[in-house]
Amino acid sequence: MKPKIFVIGSSNTDMVVKSEKLPAAGETILGGTFLMNAGGKGANQAVAAAKLGADVTFVSKVGDDIFGKQAIQGFQKEGINTDFVFTDVENPSGVALILVDAKGENSIAVASGANGNLQISEVAKAIEQISTNDTVLLQLEIPIPTVEFAIKKCYESEAKVILNPAPAQKLDETVFQYLDIITPNETEAELLTGIKVTDLKTAEQAALKFHEKGIKNVIITLGSKGAYLHNSTTNRLIAAPVVQAVDTTAAGDVFNGALAVALSEGNDLEQAIDFACKAAAISVTRMGAQASAPLRSEVV
Ligand code: ATP
Repeated sequence: MKPKIFVIGSSNTDMVVKSEKLPAAGETILGGTFLMNAGGKGANQAVAAAKLGADVTFVSKVGDDIFGKQAIQGFQKEGINTDFVFTDVENPSGVALILVDAKGENSIAVASGANGNLQISEVAKAIEQISTNDTVLLQLEIPIPTVEFAIKKCYESEAKVILNPAPAQKLDETVFQYLDIITPNETEAELLTGIKVTDLKTAEQAALKFHEKGIKNVIITLGSKGAYLHNSTTNRLIAAPVVQAVDTTAAGDVFNGALAVALSEGNDLEQAIDFACKAAAISVTRMGAQASAPLRSEVV
């Protein structure tokens, strides 16, 4: 049977203009090129998991507009169950306006739109479908009360709950006890623990803080270095494959999607992190977010 994964999170349309330099306030710059990509951390993670062959249900909210319709079509093309991608008649689909200059420096404004209106009652409907041993993956681009509700409910359904606490922001720490795994990057780990993660020693200190809050398994992603795992039996870095990176956009999303896939297939944590590092390393060698996520046959 295919592993069952529920991703609860955001969907955005990324509108990217690449130009020589970033415009100053009040300035107009001509001569840029335009790209439109499907994005949003939730959608990126759902697509990454689906491309790796998992049975994915995406729980999200889009606007009643062309962006929302395109997003749903895109998910369906990847074989994702969209029964719980709700349509918001009051708010537009989430959009990220991204300006990138010739050096790769960027400036981003996100209008969350429908993502900011994903209701507890809607997520509750999806959670009714979740059963023991399913895997649930959440991030922080939807309302925090909805995330907190989902974590507790999914735990009660005996699902394995993974929180990727991105983008970095605080949440009610009483829900940490319901998490199986937290997967912050260095910045997110610092915001949630107060420990600046610069090496393995500080990663361990941050992990101990997370354990104090009740989280069993801590995985801190460390960019090109790989990912650090700390739990009651293991304390080690799982190294990332050495690759020529061209675009690290959504590396974290591919990592999380792949981690969920490997775990739901019954692998242990170290094997799952190794698989996630391999998948994420492939994604950084290619441009784009969802487009850079590898197919199962590529991850060897
Ligand atoms: P992003 O915001 O770019 O999506 P992130 O900050 O959430 O990423 P990172 O820790 O930078 O997360 O990267 C996630 C994982 O992706 C790492 O643990 C690693 O496995 C892989 N990765 C990232 N950058 C590289 C790289 N240059 N080479 C190989 N693997 C990488």
